Order: sequence, then C-alpha cells, then structure tokens
Amino acid sequence: MLNSDSYDVIIIGTGAGGGTLVRRLAPTGKRILILERGDYIPREKDNWNPGAVNLRGKYQTKETWRDKDGAELHPHTNYCVGGNTKFYGAALFRLRKEDFGELRHHGGLSPAWPVGYDEMEPYYTEAEELYSVHGQRGEDPTEPPRSKEYPHPPVSHEPRIQQLSDDFARLGLRPFHTPLAVMLNESNRRDSKCIRCATCDGFPCLVNAKADAQVVCADPALTHDNVTLLTNAKVERILTSPSGHVATGVEVMLEGQKHLFSASIIVVSCGAINSAALLLRSANGKHPNGLANGSDAVGRHYMGHINSVLMAISKLPNPTVFQKSLSVNDYYFGDDDFRYPMGHISFVGKLDGETLKAGAPAIAPGFTLDLMANHSLDFWLTSEDLPDPCNRVSLDRDGRIVLSYKPNNEEGHKQLIHRLEQAMKKQGNGQPHGHDFHGLFSRNLFLGQRIPLAGVAHQNGTIRFGNDRRTSALDRNCKAHELDNLYVVDGSFFPSSGAVNPALTIIANALRVGDHLKARL
Ligand SMILES: Cc1cc2nc3c(=O)[nH]c(=O)nc-3n(C[C@H](O)[C@H](O)[C@H](O)COP(=O)(O)OP(=O)(O)OC[C@H]3O[C@@H](n4cnc5c(N)ncnc54)[C@H](O)[C@@H]3O)c2cc1C
Ligand code: SF4
Repeated sequence: MLNSDSYDVIIIGTGAGGGTLVRRLAPTGKRILILERGDYIPREKDNWNPGAVNLRGKYQTKETWRDKDGAELHPHTNYCVGGNTKFYGAALFRLRKEDFGELRHHGGLSPAWPVGYDEMEPYYTEAEELYSVHGQRGEDPTEPPRSKEYPHPPVSHEPRIQQLSDDFARLGLRPFHTPLAVMLNESNRRDSKCIRCATCDGFPCLVNAKADAQVVCADPALTHDNVTLLTNAKVERILTSPSGHVATGVEVMLEGQKHLFSASIIVVSCGAINSAALLLRSANGKHPNGLANGSDAVGRHYMGHINSVLMAISKLPNPTVFQKSLSVNDYYFGDDDFRYPMGHISFVGKLDGETLKAGAPAIAPGFTLDLMANHSLDFWLTSEDLPDPCNRVSLDRDGRIVLSYKPNNEEGHKQLIHRLEQAMKKQGNGQPHGHDFHGLFSRNLFLGQRIPLAGVAHQNGTIRFGNDRRTSALDRNCKAHELDNLYVVDGSFFPSSGAVNPALTIIANALRVGDHLKARL
C-alpha cells in the first residue's frame, strides 16, 4: 500500500452528484481530490454510432452483477468522467411539489422527504441555469411553483411531433415541451453548439453540446489549481478512526496498486448501487453491517422506476430526428377513473433499425426493422416504484454486487399504458384537422417493452436520508448519522422516487449539500 497526500475533501465519482458538487466547492480554494473509477469517454465517431453504442455496448461497463436468484446480470451503466450524465437523455425535470410529501398510490404509500419543495426550489433554479435547461413555464399541468423562468426557450417540436401535440391537445390533454439540457440555439443554428441530432439519448455528445456533468461541472472545476482528478481510480474501501466516528481515508486501486488518501471530509457519489456497495464493503469492527449502517438501511429500498418503451407504429411515417421534445403529465396524479398516481409520458430518442436489432420482438415477418422504425413514435413511460426494504443491493461472498428486486405498484403503470394507447387510437376521430391513427401492421398498433432489471439508469434510494436515524442512514444534509464527516451526494438519498427523471433532483441536492459543506469548511 502506498501512502499519499491528505486533502480537505475527497469526492468519489464524477456523475450528476459528484460532478456538480466539485463544481460548487472548487472556488473555495480548499484542496479537493476527485476519484473516478472510469476514464474520459474518447471523442470519436463511434460516439454517435448506434451499432457501437447500443448493439455492442462499447462504452458500458463489462462488469457483471447477480440478481436475487444468482443469475448473472450485465448492468446498463457507465463508469466514466461525467458518470451516466454522459449518456443521459438530458430531460431535466423537477419533482412535483407533492412528491416531497406522503402520497397514496395503488400499491401503497410513497413516503415524505425530510426537506420540502420550497427548500429545494432555489437549488432547482440554480441547477437549471448550470445545466442550460430549455423549457416553457406554464404548460405542464403538474409543474411545481417556480421563482424564475427557464434559462432558455423550449426546444421546438419537429412537424410529426407538433402534429401529435396538436392531436393530444384536441383530446383535452395538455402536452408540453420537455425541459432539456442541450446547448441549442434555435434562433441562430449556425452558431449553435447542439446540432439537434438523432443520437442524443443513450449516446455521448461528440461535440460536447449536451450539458453533462463532465462538460459543465468537472472540466470547469479542474481549471482551479486546488482541484485534482484521478481517473481509473476505483475506491475499494473507506477507512475510519478506531472509534468509528470519523472517516479518515479511502483505499484506491490505481494502476494495479493500492493507494491510501486521507481527507477531512469524504463524499461518496458512486451512483446509488455502487455507493451502497462501497459502504457495505467498508464494514469494520465498529460498523459490522457496513459503514454508517446501524439502521440497516444501507442498500435497501432500491428504486429504479417502472419504465417502458412503447412503440406506436402507424401508417404515417415519422421522419423526426430529435424526438425527445414532447411530454404528457395529465395522468401523473391519476384521473376520474383511477384516483392514484399513474406517471409520466415522454419520448426516447428516435429508435432506428440498428438499435431495434438489440431487442426487437418478432412481430412482423416481412417487415424490416428499418420500416418499423421509420413509422414509429417511440414513447417512454415512467411510473413510481415504492421503497421496499427487500429490494436491495447486497454483496455476495466474493464482494460482487447482488441486486434483488421485485416490482411493485404496477397497476398505475398498466393504467398509464392503457391511457396512452386509447389517446393514440382516438386521434382524428372525424375532427376536421385530426389525423387518423392507423397501424402499419394489421394487428399490432403498439409494441411495448418493460425495461428489465439490468436497466439501472434511474437507480436511487439505497442510502436514504431522513430525520430518524433508526430508519435512515443519512441526515437531512446527506451526512451519515453515524459519522462526523461522511456524506453521500448522488441518487442514493431519495426516500421516494416520484415519476419524473431523477438527475435534476440529484444535481439540485448536490448544490444544496455543497452550500452546507461550504459553510462547514
Ligand atoms: C441512457 C440513459 C439515459 C438517461 N436519461 C436521463 C434523462 O433524460 N433525465 C434524467 O434525469 N436522468 C436520466 N438518466 C439517469 C441519470 O443519468 C442519472 O440519474 C444520474 O447520472 C445519476 O447520478 P449519480 O451521481 O447518482 O450517479 P452517476 O451519474 O452514475 O455517477 C456515478 C459516478 O461514480 C463513479 N464510480 C462508481 N463507483 C466508483 C468507485 N468505487 N470509485 C470511484 N468512482 C466510482 C462512476 O464511474 C460514475 O462516474 C439516464 C441514464 C442513462 C444511463
Ligand atoms: S448535438 Fe445536440 S442533440 Fe446531438 S448529442 Fe449533442 S446535445 Fe444531443
């Protein structure tokens, strides 16, 4: 073991949580070490190649985990500078105000957070500025109150999506522009960094025009002399003082050798699954069940949302390039026929034949996957899963991650899919400007696919925060109840997950915890 320097702060991971936090702390002048197990994603043509990215998983981890039955699981996750934000679809939503309180769902209770929306609001506003979010206030029927307009105008719809938006509006829905973190200037396309391409959601941005945690946070933070980044630096354990009350340092594998770094404050931001695994791996005599785990909450309450892709394949072609501009939240909290939350409807990036090869159901002999993709509207549906202590991250005897998960609260999701299918079928209906929705194939109008367990994109909840140290691992500042100087700042802290994408809430919370740390430092 090599002994190395001591720092004021060590931050482990450079994703939405860790990357944003280092940007916040960099101007303090304090000595900050960032440890990132991955490397920079190389800038190369394959960044935008669906075959390389989706079929061959070129940039995904090759690591395998296990599911609860011991079967091998290849997680769809990315270890790199910027973390999963390098690959995200950049749809940056605020949780709804009601999501911070207790909400009754068909499948049970979604618990309240120890902080309310009003406390988070200024940080959401700052997060939207930092990540260049484009959106339109006042359109989304469930939008929480905002102190400011979006920093940039909404990303416009291409004609097929505008047509769908008009059709939905005629049915009485209130479709709206998805808030998006892309550096797009539609008033001067020649000057725009973003070129509105078809390979955004799921792909790294070759021209660095996606506001991800590398581009807008880690790289600017590194212009400060007091910030050091080590890549290919996997943290294996966190060490504590003999009393167990203070985290003293971290053991890191670097170029095949173990190194030790110490710091006054240690922040874990490895993503919800890896952060829990790291705390569990760091068990010692004073923390026999894992670091900061006297509550037995570490690793438990794993949530990842109930997500589906629904392809609506109509006779009408869909030549849209950038498809992610439209969302529907009319069913978020339920409707007259189903009085429980159902969730959120939006889009994935435009699917193509190459990507469909990775998981196409054999529904249409004689039709090529390209033909299907040319005619499909590719919806993304998200519903809330509830925190179940049995849905958890644990370690097997070799220290490998085991992810146990049994879906819950599924009725709302089924209802949501049904509502969307009905809305699609009702389009047109003899209205003068309506567009009849006829299927391309005689029987299958819709192709639906639930995102499997390996799809851990929205992972959260595994080290939850709360006021009660018997039922949560972190306090309201995301400091471990049981250690004086250990923080967790990524998706782990969520006590419940709402039904919109998680990254903006992770970012806003990192800014909030960053202010607490600045005061402490
Ligand atoms: C394809 C895709 C599309 C998505 N689209 C959206 C979207 O449109 N909107 C949205 O809100 N969210 C989206 N998400 C989810 C979003 O990216 C995540 O919620 C967010 O990145 C999570 O932030 P995090 O800080 O918790 O973890 P991450 O961003 O995963 O960062 C964790 C970091 O820790 C590093 N790390 C892990 N273990 C160690 C270790 N032991 N030592 C050192 N470093 C370590 C990892 O390499 C990584 O850099 C998407 C995700 C994916 C994969
Ligand atoms: S150019 Fe724009 S649309 Fe294309 S990947 Fe980059 S941010 Fe996304």
